[in-house]
Amino acid sequence: MKKLALFGATGSVGTSTIDIVRAYPDHFKVSVLTAHSKVKELVSLTHEFQPDVIVLSDESKEADLRDQLGSSFEGEILIGEKGLVEAASYDNYDLMVTGIVGFAGLPSLVKAIETKHDIAFANKECLVCAGPMVMQLVRENKVQFLPIDSEHNAIFQVFDKNQERSINRLILTASGGPFREKKWSELEHITPKQAVAHPNWSMGAKISVDSATMMNKGLEIIEAHYLFGVNESRIEAVIHPQSAIHSFVEYDDGSLLSQAGPADMKTPIIYALGYPTRLKTPGQRLDLLKQGYHFNFEPLETGRFPLYDCARDALKQGLEATIILNSANEVAVSAFLKGKIGYHTILECVKDALERVSNDVVETLDNVVQIDYKTRIHVKKFIEDKS
Ligand code: NAD
Ligand code: MG
Repeated sequence: MKKLALFGATGSVGTSTIDIVRAYPDHFKVSVLTAHSKVKELVSLTHEFQPDVIVLSDESKEADLRDQLGSSFEGEILIGEKGLVEAASYDNYDLMVTGIVGFAGLPSLVKAIETKHDIAFANKECLVCAGPMVMQLVRENKVQFLPIDSEHNAIFQVFDKNQERSINRLILTASGGPFREKKWSELEHITPKQAVAHPNWSMGAKISVDSATMMNKGLEIIEAHYLFGVNESRIEAVIHPQSAIHSFVEYDDGSLLSQAGPADMKTPIIYALGYPTRLKTPGQRLDLLKQGYHFNFEPLETGRFPLYDCARDALKQGLEATIILNSANEVAVSAFLKGKIGYHTILECVKDALERVSNDVVETLDNVVQIDYKTRIHVKKFIEDKS
């Protein structure tokens, strides 16, 4: 029985994970559940799985949670950001699934690694902002760090650690999102509803917007750099509209190894949950013949998706730039989803922050938190001044 801590249990990654757990009641026990503000969903999951600990990170909803939960739950209830970190430190679970979206997931991830828990890793923003520190903690504490972002999971499956020196490059695939056939200049009046309508994947709102702008692929290049220790110049991305091949590792001898599968997160998630055992997915399968597949690939040219270019440039500049890039993007995407700014303004926010947030040393996790905070204030002011 593997005991799981599902951080961000009510989100898209969380829900796919729950579907797997339901299919394997004898393999997995849910020990910890967390949600930000979806009280009703958290209560329903709590009644279903009876975990030892639940966390609601949005403090303003505490009374609502206690009210809806009633007296039948005998486990522990923790509240707020502190509650997330405390739950992460408990020894009642083996594997944390990091399904929280954004920088908010970093403190609990760090605590989980420090307290020697294995990680099924989805929350890419954490590596974008603190890659060197997180990977150092992974090495020091000798925990397993299993990627579930589909591209990184694919690379993980075909990355031969014994042949690391013979790896020439990593090639991430990108669906191209909903605006693959449009130019950036044509997208000024795109609405949040259009931006989150991804052609292949069903995901949370923030990552769906990032997939439309292609910032998501930029964040994933940074994620791959830290996960696999490969230099930025040897990580590429190609557009593959079918989302069937999830990435490639190219070896020196010319071999391209890849993993293909359905556009269903249950495949990478069950890989990580079962690791090293391969369990049968309760999700979709890729039926090549039935779907009459034609696989094609297109270049992801510079200039086509300017936020992708910003992310690549930030990685070349270093950690401070990738923190600023991520924090500015989080604030801007959130404002876009609330209808406060237009689609093009996401790029303006990111560029302005990269140019104008002042330079700092980034040596510790505290430095990372300070730069994230400073960038958020800067971008919020930029947005206020514009409106
Ligand atoms: P989502 O928006 O559907 O869910 C996010 C979860 O995080 C929810 O449970 C929510 O309650 C919680 N949350 C939100 N804000 C929080 C905060 N401030 N503090 C604590 N918890 C908070 O997001 P998602 O699509 O499931 O994505 C989660 C992460 O996984 C992201 O980092 C994303 O990039 C990554 N990812 C997602 C997919 C996917 O298919 N959805 C694929 C690859 C990687
Ligand atoms: Mg991905």
